Amino acid sequence: MLYDLSGTPGSHQSIEASVCVIGAGPAGLLAAKKLSDAGKPVIVLESGGVKPNSHFKSLNNINIQAATYKRAIDGRVRSLGGTSTVWGGCLLPLAEHDFEKRDYIGLEAWPITKNDIAHYQADIEKIFGVDSTSYEDGIFSSHRLSENLPRSAYGLKTRWPKFPTFKNYNVADILKDDIYKSRKLDVWTSATVHDFDINVMNGRVVSVSAKNFNGKTLTVFAENFIIACGTLEATRLLLLLDRKVDQGFFSKYNILGHYFHDHLKIVVGRLCNRETPASQYPFMPFVVNKTRRGLHFETSFEMQKRLQIGSGYLTMTRRVFDTPLSDNSNDLVYKRFIGFKTETRNCIENLTPKLYWNHIINNKFMNKHSDIVVEMRVEQVPTFSSTVSLSESKDALGIPELQLHWLRTSEDEKTMRAVIQMGKEYWDSMSFSRAWPIKWFLDQNLCDDLIEISEDTCHPAGSARMGNSPSNSVVGRDLRCHAVQNLLVASAAVFPTSGSANPTMTVMQIAALAAENVIYNRFLK
Ligand SMILES: Cc1cc2nc3c(=O)[nH]c(=O)nc-3n(C[C@H](O)[C@H](O)[C@H](O)COP(=O)(O)OP(=O)(O)OC[C@H]3O[C@@H](n4cnc5c(N)ncnc54)[C@H](O)[C@@H]3O)c2cc1C
Repeated sequence: MLYDLSGTPGSHQSIEASVCVIGAGPAGLLAAKKLSDAGKPVIVLESGGVKPNSHFKSLNNINIQAATYKRAIDGRVRSLGGTSTVWGGCLLPLAEHDFEKRDYIGLEAWPITKNDIAHYQADIEKIFGVDSTSYEDGIFSSHRLSENLPRSAYGLKTRWPKFPTFKNYNVADILKDDIYKSRKLDVWTSATVHDFDINVMNGRVVSVSAKNFNGKTLTVFAENFIIACGTLEATRLLLLLDRKVDQGFFSKYNILGHYFHDHLKIVVGRLCNRETPASQYPFMPFVVNKTRRGLHFETSFEMQKRLQIGSGYLTMTRRVFDTPLSDNSNDLVYKRFIGFKTETRNCIENLTPKLYWNHIINNKFMNKHSDIVVEMRVEQVPTFSSTVSLSESKDALGIPELQLHWLRTSEDEKTMRAVIQMGKEYWDSMSFSRAWPIKWFLDQNLCDDLIEISEDTCHPAGSARMGNSPSNSVVGRDLRCHAVQNLLVASAAVFPTSGSANPTMTVMQIAALAAENVIYNRFLK
């Protein structure tokens, strides 16, 4: 059932469940579904409303120090479905080697392997309605460039992410039957968790408290609690929890809030001869087995080791040209009107080719206002001094805001330079590069600081990392906080590293693992 804290009578309520999940994004809703399917009564507390709304956005305010983390506010959505209400839908699991020790860049192995979470992949794919064939070589022969495109060359390897259809993007839409009908699952919106009641004697959370903008409060008592509210907010809640205890649950080990990282992104090139209609044919997402696939060039493990770099990947992405309207006026209403007219005109002009490309060629049509660019993303090598902490200022609910000291380092610079070089060599060696050369924007010799022009990718991770001991991590391989055993974290906050994949598939695998650890009462050392 769905409840809204703002709509309930009285100013305070207390409720009880077996498990309380904090956050209703992909991680929280998947964990809640698994738990309720297994017969556990679950309460989900969601800070936002049923739909995204600017009212809740202010709760994402962050005090930024060091590098600007551009998407701290817009890259996280407070609503049912969380950030899956706006995400790009790219599903790709981490590669096996992303979990391994990489001592040449000072990285420990994850405490779990790819195998430990691989069996959740099929369930997640089913939820999104994509097929279950391989991300590696399986669909290679279906690709139009298969004869010319090496699977592995010049240090790059192809993989093939999957995308759901647009109606299956938002997890709150896909799981609506669970949210609205399940007898075991209650979801509360407008309920921002801000406080914990702890039994210090046994080191367990007894209850959590949530509040809304009207001063209404809700306390949830449960046996287990799963924090699934995205990397930054999960870390914020753990830091708030730490403050509640005299000696601190986590502060003595000084790991919580450290090693914050993201993928760094730069557009590094543009496909030339875009005016040939066929240019979109090989490089844009295409459909196989009713599933849209993208093309993803990823650094091989051998090359990472040889060059002593982190991993990185290149993708071909559509970019809409800037239209003159962006400069014409600052008046929003005017812009919207012109924007609407332009969109409508484009739509009518391109209706026939769109239908043809969508239904006959099984590929997305791009009109002449679109460009195809090469986007590079690299994994940051996590560094201890890249931190998330509580700030002195408070948000509209009176909760301490976060302070982010995000660092980009010379190791990231090295990875970026290497990935661009690999991309150039790979492309230039292809026969089709003569028909569709790439204009690379960044000449390595001319450009000093790639990290300075790189941006975050809305893949925040790492500030409550997973590991084998409290001295190097916040949660164990069972995702339980070392210091508070009935509190689990299901978010990219626990990622020790981020590898070469978009995070959501792994975040959801982690959420499924957390749910199962609760269902089977598993404590793994
Ligand atoms: C523009 C964009 C494009 C993206 N594209 C991709 C992509 O193509 N592929 C991919 O893998 N990933 C992509 N991502 C990242 C992806 O959206 C996230 O990895 C994913 O949403 C993380 O899921 P989550 O459940 O951990 O967190 P979220 O989706 O952020 O959900 C967290 C939920 O917790 C709630 N919450 C926060 N604090 C509290 C609190 N104190 N109390 C109660 N509730 C709280 C929030 O309101 C939110 O609903 C993209 C992100 C953006 C912004």
